[in-house]
Amino acid sequence: MSTKTPGCPRCGMNARLQKRTFSDQALKALIAWGDLDAKLKEEGVCDSCYGELRDVLIERSEDLKQFPESPRPMGRAS
Ligand SMILES: [Zn+2]
Repeated sequence: MSTKTPGCPRCGMNARLQKRTFSDQALKALIAWGDLDAKLKEEGVCDSCYGELRDVLIERSEDLKQFPESPRPMGRAS
């Protein structure tokens, strides 16, 4: 990682970023709901964004259930 980050990639705030990844399931849901840009899923976000996203996940825990827990690399869909 040699690219310089100007600030939080989500809100643009110049804050200390930490890479805290959510589970695949949570990421998919956040992206589907438009709360997180798909390209940010590998990035760190600031504390405030992290808190927001976590709150969304808590609020929408019912909706979260419809997202698969993890991708199926075997691809045995028929
Ligand atoms: Zn942020």
